[in-house]
Amino acid sequence: MGERRLNLHDQNDLTGFLRELVQIPSPSTREDPVAQRIVAEMTRLGFEDVHIDRMGSVVGRVGPGHGPVLMLNGHMDTVEVSAPECWDHPPYGAEIRDGTLFGIGACDMKGGLAAMIYGVKLLIDSGADLAGDIVVACVVQEEPSEGLGTRALIEDEGIRPDWVVLAEPTNLDVARGHRGRLEMRLTADGRAAHAACPDLGDNAIYTAARLVFGLELLSGQLGTDDFLGPGSLSVTAISSRACSRNAVPDQCEVIIDRRLTLGENEAKAIAEVQRVITREGVQARVEVTEYETTSYTGTTRRTRQCYPAWVIAEDHPLVAAAVQAVRTQLKVRPQVTRWSFSTEGAYTAGSARIPTVGFGPGEPNVAHTANEHVRLADVHSAAEVYAQLASILLGER
Ligand SMILES: [Zn+2]
Repeated sequence: MGERRLNLHDQNDLTGFLRELVQIPSPSTREDPVAQRIVAEMTRLGFEDVHIDRMGSVVGRVGPGHGPVLMLNGHMDTVEVSAPECWDHPPYGAEIRDGTLFGIGACDMKGGLAAMIYGVKLLIDSGADLAGDIVVACVVQEEPSEGLGTRALIEDEGIRPDWVVLAEPTNLDVARGHRGRLEMRLTADGRAAHAACPDLGDNAIYTAARLVFGLELLSGQLGTDDFLGPGSLSVTAISSRACSRNAVPDQCEVIIDRRLTLGENEAKAIAEVQRVITREGVQARVEVTEYETTSYTGTTRRTRQCYPAWVIAEDHPLVAAAVQAVRTQLKVRPQVTRWSFSTEGAYTAGSARIPTVGFGPGEPNVAHTANEHVRLADVHSAAEVYAQLASILLGER
């Protein structure tokens, strides 16, 4: 299979498109304007069936309409700008310095989004006669609830991918898994009393404090996996309830972020916390939290905040194809690695069991930081690798 190359004109168009994507704010649930821009670009480039689904995700397709389906998947939403004063470049400026584009979402993951769309453009322009379809999916609300958007595409829209390639940043390496994520709420119960007479009450904050110590101990005793590493547990928020600041609180909530390694699941994680409660002999309960959201289209969804870990075998044909595509295009052997964070793969691989790999431009540790950036040469290379990978998987007749 020959190399795929963007010409200078396409490179400039891809850069311009990426700059626009970064300049259009798209925090989770407010992806509408960026979705419209992507629809326009896909339509202009010759994608078929370009549309927005009920959740607000954009889908476009190329191919014969039958045969195996490759889904190129990315998310349109970004996190919010939390500390603008920490940025040396305006977060929505999309400034370019020495071939690097700065802005929120540049790395996570508008660089990957733009690259996958232009990778498919390469195939459209070359008149590639594919034996199956490429579906490009630009999904909503990945940041708060990874997999939510893709689940809707597969379970409601009836898209049936045989392979999924996630364009989240890998620094042009190949990712073949990540730990899962579980959010739990631990609620300690107490008894209210006037703070002037605390002996008449039972302070829920004191109960929660004992449990928090137990959780800190637990965090050092979690399961581990050779490839994904150990699971982890972090207490990330505490809040209490009382009728005034002169009252003993009758309830205290602790939020726990739990990263699940391979072999760990929701039942195991809940049971571990339950044992802490039992050991302390206190009144408390633990449950998985729910994420409820209304997307910009008005569709409301409720999701339990449980996202499984996943790994695809290193010798799986999809991993081999991704490695081959990188070698053909970049003349280097990519590292086959894992992500430290969670992605739509929690659903596609973890729940739906669809073979999934990750490949994208941008350094993973730059995501969610001030001065987020991506090298434009890497965005261009990623587009070429997506085209190559699609050719390998779908064959050209
Ligand atoms: Zn991301």
